[in-house]
Amino acid sequence: MSLRLIPDLLWLDGRFVAGQGVEYDTATGRIVRIAPEAELAAKAVRLRERALMPGLINVHSHAFQRLIRGRTQWRGSEPASDFWSWRDAMYAALQQLSPDDIYAASRLCFIEMLRSGITTVGEFHYLHNDPDGKPYANRAELALRVVAAANDAGIRIVLLNSAYATGGVREPLRPEQRRFETPDIASFLTTTESLRAQLTSGTATVGLAPHSVRAVPRSWLEELAVYARDEGLVLHTHVSEQQGEVDACKRAYGRRPVELLEDSGVLSPTFTGVHCTHITAEEVVLLRTSGATVAACPGTERDLGDGILSASALVQAGVPIALGTDSQTVIDLWEEMRLVEYHERLRSERRALLTTRVGDRHEVAPALIDMGTVAGARSLGLDAGRLSAGSVADFVAIDLGHIALAGYTVDTLPACLALSAPAAVVTDVWVGGVQRVADSVHADEETAMQAFAGVLAAK
Ligand SMILES: [Zn+2]
Repeated sequence: MSLRLIPDLLWLDGRFVAGQGVEYDTATGRIVRIAPEAELAAKAVRLRERALMPGLINVHSHAFQRLIRGRTQWRGSEPASDFWSWRDAMYAALQQLSPDDIYAASRLCFIEMLRSGITTVGEFHYLHNDPDGKPYANRAELALRVVAAANDAGIRIVLLNSAYATGGVREPLRPEQRRFETPDIASFLTTTESLRAQLTSGTATVGLAPHSVRAVPRSWLEELAVYARDEGLVLHTHVSEQQGEVDACKRAYGRRPVELLEDSGVLSPTFTGVHCTHITAEEVVLLRTSGATVAACPGTERDLGDGILSASALVQAGVPIALGTDSQTVIDLWEEMRLVEYHERLRSERRALLTTRVGDRHEVAPALIDMGTVAGARSLGLDAGRLSAGSVADFVAIDLGHIALAGYTVDTLPACLALSAPAAVVTDVWVGGVQRVADSVHADEETAMQAFAGVLAAK
């Protein structure tokens, strides 16, 4: 069946336009055409006082980390808190989580994402084993629970199955990392294949994620890069989030992380480096030459004190930047968009740095919105991020009557959204042509919140 929506404004080719609507097919979950209002008027649903945009694409998430929101914002008597002490707290929180707990935390997290306008999540999944570190009878048990949570919430998911073998560069796993272990590459790939065979919903696919140069040996990077290329899968890796990781990589391999990935055959147009907060100008060139994408997670990076992404250098070089909510400190991709730009302003003491040419102006908002849509789709290998024929029917409606948008014009609306408005301006969300959020409510959010509270109460 085909359905038609006619909003007041539609996001097309980097700007809002009036007088256009979208027709989509509920059987395929894809957009059939974008056409003038007059052609679609018969049987169309009119979205009054609404703008329609492609759904936002969150390329880097660890859903279970939603459980520690608000619980790591303090320190004890130690002189300093940093990424590594946060990581210890995160490890402690996950030790006893059951498959049901993982499902409940993930479902709540994904519903919160949908409510903010995120229609796709790239879930970087590295929690594989039971609390004793033993594989479940189905080695993909926890991955399947996360996917079930995504399917039930109604969000599109790319399950980025993570390989994790070492506790640091060439170091044994620590006891608290036993739930992440993928002991050998053959069983990891067997599990990945089984996972691919078990995902049949049409809104769930699989990618590969060697966790980082800290967590897998070089030989794994090489083998996984070949497998991903042969199978046509995207490949994501945490890269240079902390200076300590760069130093350890240099000590072990005589190379920085991006250089090691290049030497291992990992860099390619289907590769996404997550964070890249500590990279050199030479590494920017390697990323650019390979056609790779960088996933920025500035909400998490500011929370963890990771450092500031060299976004201007990446944009000037032509490296696409996609966005992720990562540790879920904040679930708001609009916020992630503006932080990439704002962090650069704070560093450079200048304004309007990450821009797209529109007429005789260099506009910030279209560049930021592209990060949350087009670049995200590229990173996850999806026909998404655009309202165009053949793309998935993933879109969000914006409340043009919201007080945060008062005074907008068709020309200022992109900047109001990308740089100012709260995610609460999103009222309605469709994924694959199915409406999942209506009038700012997801049908399952109350039950999901109760189940989530139950997980925390039991710990
Ligand atoms: Zn991460």
